[in-house]
Amino acid sequence: MTRIADTYLLADPASREAVIIDPVVGWADRDAELVRDLGVTLKYGLNTHVHADHVTGTGKLKTLLAGMQSVIFEPACKADVHVAHGDRVQFGSRWLEVRHTPGHTPGCVTFVLDDQSMAFTGDALLIRGCGRTDFQGGSAPTLFDSVHSQILSLPDACLLFPAHDYKGRTVTSVSEEKAKNPRLTKSKEEFVHIMDHLGLERPKLIDIAVPANLECGVYDIPADAPKSDGSVATVAAAAAAK
Ligand code: FE
Repeated sequence: MTRIADTYLLADPASREAVIIDPVVGWADRDAELVRDLGVTLKYGLNTHVHADHVTGTGKLKTLLAGMQSVIFEPACKADVHVAHGDRVQFGSRWLEVRHTPGHTPGCVTFVLDDQSMAFTGDALLIRGCGRTDFQGGSAPTLFDSVHSQILSLPDACLLFPAHDYKGRTVTSVSEEKAKNPRLTKSKEEFVHIMDHLGLERPKLIDIAVPANLECGVYDIPADAPKSDGSVATVAAAAAAK
C-alpha cells in the first residue's frame, strides 16, 4: 500500500467550526461526508504547501461544502486566503498559528495549535525524516534553519503530525524528533551533505500536481485522480486540550 498524504480535520466542539489540513482531491467526497456526519462547519481548507505528489482537495471541497475557503501561504497559488507568518487561522474559539517553514519549498508553512499541544508540519519535518530539498525551489540549509527555529523549538511534548508517512506511522513529538531524527540531529553541514546525496526519483505526478495545485486544485482535475489510502485523522481540538 502506498500512502499519498495524510489529512487532518480539527474541530472546535463548542462552535462546531472546523478546518481541514492537506486534503487530497481523490478523497474530497470522503472528507465532505465526514464533515457532514460530524455535523461540523468546514471553515477553511488549509494547504501546508504546493504539493508535488498529489492534487490538493481544497478546490473540490469548495464545490461540496458551501462556505469553505481555501488557504495557502504561497503567493503564486490561487486561494481564497493567503496567510503570512504569525497569522492566526481561527475556528470557533481555537486557532492555528502560521509558522513559515521554508526549505522543502519556499512557501511551506507549519500550523501550530493555539496551546502548542500539536503542530502540523507538512513536509518540513517528517517522522524520522524531512521533505526533500532538490526541486520546487528547495534549500537544505533553509530547511535546517526552519525546522530548528520553528518546529523543534516547540515544547518537547508537542505532537507533530506530518503530511506523509510512507511507513504507516501517524504521529511523533518534538522530543522524539530532537532525539531520534537521523537527519536533523546532525550538524547543519552534515544535514546539507545528506540532503544533497539522497538520489531520489522525480515524483511521478509532479507535472500534473504542481500546475493543478497552483490553481487551488481546480485546474483540469484528472478524472482518475489517484485514490490513496491516505488517512484522515479527526482531532477534537478543544476537547483534547481543555
Ligand atoms: Fe511536498
